Amino acid sequence: MTTPVERLQTSLETLGLKAAEARLENLLEEAAKKEPSYADFLQDLLSCEVEARRTRYLRARLQLAHFPFVKTFDQFDFSFQPSIDERQIRELRSLRFIHDASNVILLGPPGVGKTHLSIALAEAAIRSGLGAYFITAHDLAGDLGRAYREGRLDRRMRVYLAPKLLVIDEVGYLPLDDLGTTIFFQLVSARYERGSIILTSNKSYADWGSIFGDSIIATAILDRLLHHSTTINIRGESYRLKDRRKAGLVPPRTQETAAPSLATDSVPPKTRHKTALGSTPSAAKEASF
Ligand code: ADP
Ligand code: MG
Repeated sequence: MTTPVERLQTSLETLGLKAAEARLENLLEEAAKKEPSYADFLQDLLSCEVEARRTRYLRARLQLAHFPFVKTFDQFDFSFQPSIDERQIRELRSLRFIHDASNVILLGPPGVGKTHLSIALAEAAIRSGLGAYFITAHDLAGDLGRAYREGRLDRRMRVYLAPKLLVIDEVGYLPLDDLGTTIFFQLVSARYERGSIILTSNKSYADWGSIFGDSIIATAILDRLLHHSTTINIRGESYRLKDRRKAGLVPPRTQETAAPSLATDSVPPKTRHKTALGSTPSAAKEASF
């Protein structure tokens, strides 16, 4: 003879409501003491199932996003990078830029947190229910180049067009060949005013001609990327050096040893560049070719 509780457990299991099943006995004991209304009891039972589903869904979306590591804003020490305008970051964290299909470009030398911040934004996007995908420029060009040679570029392109937010990391670490450049241009054009891109680069805009091997295409890519965009130019030293410096393995920081700033000053005339909160021009410095 099965008890009513056992039958209820079996029903919950059959329905795949494992979290509710796991909480059932505790909730029944609590209910015997506190005597909640029927509605409150059911609400308590189902809310743990809803929460478990939300967690599972979030985990799946985070996995689909292909982050190399998950980092959040809470883990970012803004005092270490005073060149970052926190107001600008707060504005980006509102995720309005994704709803506006606007772009974010993070420029700076290695180790200053470009990848960290781009992942933190993408993680926040996923948490709020927006799709995000992360890839390095090198892997992107390799993947789409292969798809092109195998005659399935259009289909493969959809992977990079579908998410509301696409993070393209490390643009400029390795130069792209002609095919890579053409495909990159196609992708940026196809997402233009449709979906956001967060792009990180260690190269100033002035050097983009050398990344793409052709300054005309580089200008065309920049034109689309920057039309609706926020540039965050991080002028700091590598966070990776911090602990080594503390241990005395690296000389103390001075003006001379601080990493050089990247982006230079003039704005391409064609580019109507929007900075977050209309912030200082220094937050959005670009170079013409
Ligand atoms: P970049 O992409 O600019 O080369 P990363 O984002 O990969 O740099 O940062 C290198 C490492 O240092 C990562 O583990 C990152 O989480 C950490 N890091 C960088 N800047 C900060 C910071 N200001 N606060 C906390 N961790 C940081
Ligand atoms: Mg990086």
